[in-house]
Parts: sequence; C-alpha cells; structure tokens
Amino acid sequence: MSPCPRCTGPIGDRAARSRTTTARNLTICSACGTAEAVRDARGLAPVPLNEWPVKAP
Ligand SMILES: [Zn+2]
Repeated sequence: MSPCPRCTGPIGDRAARSRTTTARNLTICSACGTAEAVRDARGLAPVPLNEWPVKAP
C-alpha cells in the first residue's frame, strides 16, 4: 500500500478520506483523518494539498 500523501507515514488498516476534496477521494491515514476532523471542528479549513506533506498530522 502506498504511504499517506498527507504525512508520508503508513496508511495502515484504518484509512480515512481527506476532506480537502469535495469528492473525498483521497485516502489518508487515520491520524491525518483525525487531524482534519479536529481542524474542521475548530472551524479551520483543511491543510491545502499544496502544503502537503505536513510534518505532524
Ligand atoms: Zn497521514
């Protein structure tokens, strides 16, 4: 399996769908999925694709 494009870490067996695209067709790791959910809950936009990979998910 290819690495997580958001943090370059392993995606593992709990893949998530990134909120950066409306289609949510980007697979990211569960840590990044959680990080995006936290940002969303705080009213922040997801880290844009052109700033990937991020250091700390
Ligand atoms: Zn990740």
